[in-house]
Amino acid sequence: MRYFSTRGGDQAASTTEALLRGLARDGGLYVPEFIRPMTFLVDDLEHLNYADMAYKVISTIFDDLDEGELRAAINDAYAAFPGDVLPVKKLKDTYVMEQFHGPTRAFKDFALSLLPRLLAMALKEQGESKTALVLTATSGDTGSAAIHGFKNVPNTEIIVLYPKEGISEVQRAQMLIKGNNVHPLAIEGNFDDAQQALKHLFNDRDFNNYVGQHGYFVTSANSINIGRLVPQIAYYFYTYYTLVKQGEVTFNEPITFVVPTGNFGNLLAGHFAKLMGLPIQDLVLASNKNNVLTDFVRTGVYDGNRPFYTTVSPSMDILISSNLERYLYLMTENADEIKSLYQDLTNTGCFEYSGEMGNLYGWTCYEADTLEQIKTTYANDQYLVDPHTATAVFAAAKYREAHNYKTVVNATASPVKFAPTIFKALGKHCDNDAQALDKVMAMMNDRRFLDEGGDVEERVIAKASIQEVIEACIHED
Ligand SMILES: *Cc1c(COP(=O)(O)O)cnc(C)c1O
Repeated sequence: MRYFSTRGGDQAASTTEALLRGLARDGGLYVPEFIRPMTFLVDDLEHLNYADMAYKVISTIFDDLDEGELRAAINDAYAAFPGDVLPVKKLKDTYVMEQFHGPTRAFKDFALSLLPRLLAMALKEQGESKTALVLTATSGDTGSAAIHGFKNVPNTEIIVLYPKEGISEVQRAQMLIKGNNVHPLAIEGNFDDAQQALKHLFNDRDFNNYVGQHGYFVTSANSINIGRLVPQIAYYFYTYYTLVKQGEVTFNEPITFVVPTGNFGNLLAGHFAKLMGLPIQDLVLASNKNNVLTDFVRTGVYDGNRPFYTTVSPSMDILISSNLERYLYLMTENADEIKSLYQDLTNTGCFEYSGEMGNLYGWTCYEADTLEQIKTTYANDQYLVDPHTATAVFAAAKYREAHNYKTVVNATASPVKFAPTIFKALGKHCDNDAQALDKVMAMMNDRRFLDEGGDVEERVIAKASIQEVIEACIHED
């Protein structure tokens, strides 16, 4: 497979090249040259487990990877999940795709358990003798999942920048783990600051030369890497066919997915599934109070010039949503237009898009509504949702007011990661956060997930010193 940059100024000749580069060299994002349809017969589905489905989907796009190695990488990645990798639950009004049973209890485990293995394959195939310096910005869940995925993987060094304020204590503990190639760095700033700083470093020639001279090359574990996006397509197919098998959905019946959205990676994978032929009617994004995407879907104006809020759904606290660029490229198939939009964004913090929006809807779920939704879903369905998932349950209800399609909510994190917020929402008393965590773990019947974490000191750095600290990290080992 070849990949083109959304901004028209770069391409990658193979999957492994795109994986190793992460961001395209013109600042755009790689998109596959074409998207092949996937076909299934109902009979095929009977025997597919999650890894089988993932292999079918991923190899359709990553068609130039070694089949045996890819199959083994996928098996290994999902072996770290429980037997039921992706349960699909039925509530009164919607289905829920539980994406949170991986090692760090958030959907990002689906891609970040596999990405290190994909990078290892790519390093080998490209004959790359340098170490991959994996730079990652996080609002919480990417960092913990990336550190978990890359920890002790040979020929990789993982650097994670996370905002010191605004992440949950469980997320923090999951990042502060030991590993000789692991560098969690807390910055005095928010997620967008971290993401913009890294995007700048990716394209900074002096920085790339410097790390090159020391035996490293720079890549990314953020959802700008095509290796993050493609594994996520599989869970849409798997969920759809689970519903078909359970008799909840008839074969080829169009259904709608509702996704708590930040960087647009989860939702974009749904759009890819649709382009590959999965009968998806609409894609609905849920925003929190940082509702730049809902405004965009409704007006075509992407306006990042607005206050940044820290919310109870921190993984959606974002004003610059990277993967929207891929979506707009797929809509317009016009790299010149995308380049000009993103020049506007760089220059003015804003752009105006007048093209097709596709079957995309958006709703904002404010803070009070998020807490209220956690409470009502628990009361109505005896089902606990985390604050991110709550925004999507809320949006799904709004969507259903005007549409009759069945909905699936992507449940992106386990409530155990946000226990104090859950307690507050339920209006229950607890003495402290540790007690809240204990109780929510009991409610979720999930006590094992904090087996490791919190065993190194937090290191806090100023925004201005990010480059300097990263350069120092590669000398530490
Ligand atoms: C990362 C994350 C999101 C946002 O996903 P995007 O792919 O960035 O849109 C939503 N919920 C949770 C729990 C997350 O970790």
